[in-house]
Amino acid sequence: MKLLVAVKRVIDYNVKVRVKSDRTDVDLANVKMSLNPFCEIAVEEAVRLKEKGVASEVLVVSIGSKACQEQLRTALALGADRAIQVEGPDNPDSLSVARILAEIVKREDPGLILLGKQSIDSDNNQTGQMLAALIDRPQATFISEIMIEGDQLTATREVDGGLQTLQLTLPAVVTTDLRLNEPRYASLPNIMKAKKKPLDVMTADELGISINNRITLVSVEPPAERSAGIKVSSVTELVDKLRQEAKVIA
Ligand code: AMP
Repeated sequence: MKLLVAVKRVIDYNVKVRVKSDRTDVDLANVKMSLNPFCEIAVEEAVRLKEKGVASEVLVVSIGSKACQEQLRTALALGADRAIQVEGPDNPDSLSVARILAEIVKREDPGLILLGKQSIDSDNNQTGQMLAALIDRPQATFISEIMIEGDQLTATREVDGGLQTLQLTLPAVVTTDLRLNEPRYASLPNIMKAKKKPLDVMTADELGISINNRITLVSVEPPAERSAGIKVSSVTELVDKLRQEAKVIA
């Protein structure tokens, strides 16, 4: 069985995000970019399924500018076998990404498609759901455990206040949650080996898909600055300040 994993290049989760002075977008100049953490979990799970003998090949796909080849190489270093970059804008809208992935699914015929539950930059949480609808296959989102037997996938979902278990018939789409696994670090020899693994580049046109962003980013606002706190020396002083200055108690 072939596994297809969709991976996205995003701002690194350790970076303190800055907004451009004209508020048109987040400032990405000289900022560290990484594999979206939920996509990294999806790659790790796919590689584990291959190591267990459940899958035979792990294909990773990213839609974006040439820069996203860096994240595809990271996925190859983590154990994926092959990569495809579909050239597109840096932040294509979710429906365009889902339509491109649907076309790749048609051509590659994977038994299971893994995506992150959400991108940590746009926080959309919708690409996997859109893809499942477009290819008319079952989906399980926010997955914390996967078991595959024959053409049946049992998935544990993290839902509000508990866990839900679903059974799906493959091919299916799953989106990964944080507790599914702890991704490995890529070793230096694997980083070197990844440079030689196949990475194909195609355009959306070649796939017969036009990327037309239906959503316009109007503006981005940083969170309101909080003024520094103060230390009080006694409960009496605290109550006094709450009454006289903050006016939150009478
Ligand atoms: P989102 O719906 O944007 O929150 O993204 C959910 C998941 O969809 C991500 O974790 C990726 O697996 C996939 N995805 C989103 N954008 C892209 C992209 N440009 N290229 C490849 N996969 C993507």
